[in-house]
Amino acid sequence: MTYSRSESLHAAAVRLTPGGVNSPVRAFRAVGGTPLYISRASGSKIYDVDGREYVDYVLSWGPIMLGHAAPEIVEAVERAARDGTSFGAPSAYEVDLAALVVDAIPAIDMVRFVSSGTEACMTAIRLARAWTKRDKIVKCAGCYHGHADPLLVSAGSGALTLGIPDSPGVTAATAADTIVVPYNDDDGAGAAFAKHGEQIAAVIVEPVAGNMGFIPPSPGYLERLRALTTQAGALLIVDEVMTGFRLHYGSAQSIYGIEADITCLGKVIGAGLPVAAIGGKREIMERLAPSGDVYQAGTLSGNPLAMAAGAAQLRALRDGDAYERIDRIGSALISGLRHTFAKAGIPAQIDRIGSMWGLFFNAKPVTDLASAKTSDTAAFAKYFHAMLERGVYLAPSQYEAAFLSAAHCDDDVERTLTAARDSLAAIASAR
Ligand SMILES: *Cc1c(COP(=O)(O)O)cnc(C)c1O
Repeated sequence: MTYSRSESLHAAAVRLTPGGVNSPVRAFRAVGGTPLYISRASGSKIYDVDGREYVDYVLSWGPIMLGHAAPEIVEAVERAARDGTSFGAPSAYEVDLAALVVDAIPAIDMVRFVSSGTEACMTAIRLARAWTKRDKIVKCAGCYHGHADPLLVSAGSGALTLGIPDSPGVTAATAADTIVVPYNDDDGAGAAFAKHGEQIAAVIVEPVAGNMGFIPPSPGYLERLRALTTQAGALLIVDEVMTGFRLHYGSAQSIYGIEADITCLGKVIGAGLPVAAIGGKREIMERLAPSGDVYQAGTLSGNPLAMAAGAAQLRALRDGDAYERIDRIGSALISGLRHTFAKAGIPAQIDRIGSMWGLFFNAKPVTDLASAKTSDTAAFAKYFHAMLERGVYLAPSQYEAAFLSAAHCDDDVERTLTAARDSLAAIASAR
């Protein structure tokens, strides 16, 4: 099979852009080969520049919930664009999306829009430090909260895939204020508070981890973080950039029955345009400029196209049956994959919550970064390429979650299961 147009584009790109990509996770570094260059996408499918079709489980790394190029989103963006692409002044679009977010998530009284999850998490940390007048933050090894300096310590996603969890350029002084604990480890978090409790401004956590592969929270873990932070006078920052509106319309917090002091959102609230947000209790949020003294700003924040796209997606999720459809397709996919792997005699951990799922080539349960790292990444790389050849597009790393949209259908599941069966057979016979 040739990927000749992707290969020639990539040959040009590597001369123009570091590694040929504008975000490291897009390169095929962990699996080898050339990244696919995508020409268009529709529903559950993406199409590469060589004309091939793939069932897409990456979905732009999370933002796409209704399927690619959903008519309601395309129309909303077109309509907004005709009236101008950016004003740098308030517009009704921002009020509309803000009201949708505040209505959906009980822990959010007020919201501030930004353009990336990185900005949202960076702002959440600054706000928590200002609010508590404390410096230290606690994060979990393998959780990714964007690439702001204080959060680029034992981070997941591309930083994990590429093996550079602690990036050069992050100063020792910055890293010193970040305390790293294992995910799903009540004792680890407890010990951090026992030792540094009075200095801790906040714990930041992915309520369902999706950046070291897909790892659900252990029963009681999020509640434990809520209790520890409350007792110590620290804030709980729940980073729902990936999970927000993806797992449930009320987001992960409503599934697990916890309330964050500050919630980070992104991805789904922009429907594939650059939108993220922080939200929280009124008194905390009002510390942000210009009502308060904590500075935060953005030239393109609240961009009309992005707000219109996000509002169209949230309305469709609120009023339609997307979550039910995804649940039905998701359970068929996961039970089918478990069956396929078991039949092939390949040990794997395959799990799902709502529209987020994952597959570790691992015989043992994966609950944190240390156990995730015992996965067979060489087997994953072979599986990834075998699936790609058979028209299934997965994230090019063992350490990323997979996604479903409301456009995925029974036929996609069937294609995926057939591809998985044939891929595992091809890998076995090549041994
Ligand atoms: C994607 C992600 C981010 C970073 O968002 P960007 O828009 O890529 O900056 C932060 N936190 C989590 C949990 C994410 O999944």
